Amino acid sequence: MVSSNDVQKLFLQAVASRRILSKQVAAKIWYKCVEAVQAVDETLEIEYRENKWDEWVNRLNAALEPLAIEFAHVFDEATGKDMYALVNRKSDEIAQLASDYTAGEIMYFRAILEQIMLAPNESYCVSSLAALREVNHVQTTMTKSQAQHVLGSFVARGWLLKSPKGRYSLSTRTILELQPYLRSTYPDEVLECTICFEMVTSGYACFTPACKLRLHNHCYKNHRRMRSDCPTCKVEWGEDDSKLLRVGEQAFKDGQEKGRRVRSVEADEDGDGEEDEEQSQSQSREPSEPSQSQTKVKKEKTTKGKGKGKKKVAESDEDEEMEEDGETPPPRTQGKRKARS
Ligand SMILES: [Zn+2]
Ligand SMILES: [Zn+2]
Repeated sequence: MVSSNDVQKLFLQAVASRRILSKQVAAKIWYKCVEAVQAVDETLEIEYRENKWDEWVNRLNAALEPLAIEFAHVFDEATGKDMYALVNRKSDEIAQLASDYTAGEIMYFRAILEQIMLAPNESYCVSSLAALREVNHVQTTMTKSQAQHVLGSFVARGWLLKSPKGRYSLSTRTILELQPYLRSTYPDEVLECTICFEMVTSGYACFTPACKLRLHNHCYKNHRRMRSDCPTCKVEWGEDDSKLLRVGEQAFKDGQEKGRRVRSVEADEDGDGEEDEEQSQSQSREPSEPSQSQTKVKKEKTTKGKGKGKKKVAESDEDEEMEEDGETPPPRTQGKRKARS
């Protein structure tokens, strides 16, 4: 016996096997599931109408709510496409990675996320050398070549994007699944689109110094079709976007990357205990599968204060670091985000 509930079950199985999918593909799967269930029992009445997609998603999410899972929507920042993924809402930590990575590898991922989130000039990206270098600041026995392998796996599994210029940035999957973590850990760095209120890591910013306008590429294009002024400060932008500032890799200027960035010391010492809490949460997750790179976590206790106050030069053990490292990097403080150079 089949019932109309089976459409939901079939649909969930199909989307669970994909990490992230476009609305177009998801809608096709929905239709196929309806067809499959009706093929078993023709008498079954299943309400299906293409234009009822939002209703379908709402019903699905109502059914998933007790499991703290959401069939969540996000725009792909590069293409502007509607994307969906099943997201675990039970935890706002990086639990989603726990089944694929060791504790050391997850710490490494967090360190890279930090460099991306604290990147200068709202560029939200980090060079491959800087990403590789982060392994020195994580309590792990991972070697550079193992780290290289793990980085490749972060890209292959859709947690990071690698640009043609070799810079890493946040993937749509990471923005979707780790957004609660990013918002709670980097409240001053997370930018929201002025039009759709979703998180932006790639897009446009207004050139008026105090103007807070930030737009996704697709939201910008939509706005431009109708108007040529800033929706926030009303300044005239001109014919093209040449005067506008960028968010994301295009905002990165050569020579800006002077060493690694750490969250401000004051923020860590004000006794909010935030970092301790994050630490203990990540420590409680043991690798559930053997790591491909045999990484072991050497010490799990002492990550607090990692790299703070250390002289970068003292740690340079490879020539390749010379390319990017300046002298001692001034700690980049939170709250500088709003000041653009
Ligand atoms: Zn937007
Ligand atoms: Zn403006």
